[in-house]
Amino acid sequence: MKHHYLFIVGGVMSGVGKGTSSAALGLTLKSKGYSVTAIKIDPYVNVDAGTMNPVEHGEVFVTVDGDETDQDVGTYERYLETNIPRINYMTTGRVYQTVIERERNLEYKGKCVEVVPHVPEEIISRIEKASKEAKADITLIEVGGTVGEYQNVLFLEAARMMQVKDPNSVRFVIVSYLPVPPSVGEMKSKPTQYAIRTLNSAGIRPDFVVGRSPMAMDDPRKQKIAWICGVPKEHIISAPDAKSVYDIPDMFEQQDFANNVLKCFGLKKKESDLKRWHGFVKKMKSAKKEIKVGVVGKYFSTGDFVLSDVYLSVLEAIKHAAVSEGVKAKIEWLNSEEFEKSPVKMKKELSQMDAVIVPGGFGSRGIEGKIKTIEYCRKNKIPYLGLCYGMQCAVIEYARNVLGWKDANTTEIDEKTEHPVVHIQESQKDNVAKGSYGGTLRLGGYPCMLKKGSKASGAYKTDMISERHRHRYEFNNEYRDALQSAGLVISGVSPDDHFVEIVELENHPFFVGVQFHPEFQSRPLSPHPLFVGLIKAGKSRGKATGKGMGKVTGKKKV
Ligand code: GLN
Repeated sequence: MKHHYLFIVGGVMSGVGKGTSSAALGLTLKSKGYSVTAIKIDPYVNVDAGTMNPVEHGEVFVTVDGDETDQDVGTYERYLETNIPRINYMTTGRVYQTVIERERNLEYKGKCVEVVPHVPEEIISRIEKASKEAKADITLIEVGGTVGEYQNVLFLEAARMMQVKDPNSVRFVIVSYLPVPPSVGEMKSKPTQYAIRTLNSAGIRPDFVVGRSPMAMDDPRKQKIAWICGVPKEHIISAPDAKSVYDIPDMFEQQDFANNVLKCFGLKKKESDLKRWHGFVKKMKSAKKEIKVGVVGKYFSTGDFVLSDVYLSVLEAIKHAAVSEGVKAKIEWLNSEEFEKSPVKMKKELSQMDAVIVPGGFGSRGIEGKIKTIEYCRKNKIPYLGLCYGMQCAVIEYARNVLGWKDANTTEIDEKTEHPVVHIQESQKDNVAKGSYGGTLRLGGYPCMLKKGSKASGAYKTDMISERHRHRYEFNNEYRDALQSAGLVISGVSPDDHFVEIVELENHPFFVGVQFHPEFQSRPLSPHPLFVGLIKAGKSRGKATGKGMGKVTGKKKV
């Protein structure tokens, strides 16, 4: 089969939505009956995203085969409705690591190993392997960063070399920004022109320009870019800020973006079938009632800016479940550190919530506030879903406040506690002792058996599931009996019965803690059962208390 490669690069600045543009274009191509996969290239030297601080990187998305990747990979999975494997993610560090390993194994047969061509060749071989494994007609390859950065030069060189090798199989899209400076009041195309010139100097001519801007791009500007940059006018796609990211596939379809890509590759143009997608968008927009979902985590900020991307998949999973339940989720970011300082504030804020989530996390900052939050939700019957750390904190809370073990803790925080109800996995001790942190957590999809009649099995409607993990600590089996006797239900375990994967409570509308990250498997068209369970319970609480479930108020983007 013939593989086609569409590189997506960025111009002017980062953060303009290259990932969403790639995913949306991928969806529209797929909806025309082509098989599509997507690759993310991150130009940093880290081998994966796993060792980076969330402030540096945002969310670390975990693939089913256990890779710690960029959040864009999650966006591809959600739009393309497919699992993206490890081979579809690469960084400078990962590429160099392979080249150096191969050199050490004499695989270059005594040659001098050089940055060019050997590094781009490794990049090309990874791209080709990913396309082959996905049996993809079209592979989208998103090159992180923006053109002109020193860091992604070798990736652009690889793309250029691929085009030289087979001119008809490689095409380029530049997603660039067109500002409208308030003092000028006019959309400016010059930064984009410069970005395209820079791309030209890497030996690449873009075939398409996606113009990201606060408003739609008008004809004179399209004309100007077409003329100056040598791109056909109908290949200049206007991508103004959308009210919802889920509108972008339609925005592209209206401009026949995907069909023009197909034409460019010499492939047949086709009608798209976006019926299911449209159904989702329609349902999302027609929701009349709103429920308040509190996400209690630590705040990540740089300077004056708070980063909410850190919990991107959690946010998405809440939205998907809300749409399927016919409501709009109003997500409130609640700062667990503030709850530590002010229990009054905590009660005031939590009592307004219809449902609460404590997402994954690491380290001591804010953990006591999370434990207090869980206690409040347990006692006040507020629907609660604990994700990974949120499950471990639920176990600690139960041990402290129901069993009365005031010092109960995870050994991640207190190694000397007399009640280490959460402790390090046996297999992890060596990694920590050696300081071997990269890629060594328990990662990726593992099976889990559910207890019949439990809330979990009721939500999943099955007894065997597979979910994605990312943790070094685990429920301490020495405390299983004590915690169970005190009423904590263990409703999910690994098939060998070693790992406690799910805990829950009876006599509570919804109280479930999971050792895994269900958010990574939620998609717009297949919302995750546990998030749906939480939202369902949240809806009932909203109706009962009359506090939540207000009319849709926010005009915020979704
Ligand atoms: N810090 C905990 C652990 O390593 C939880 C990790 C998480 O929430 N992803 O086990």
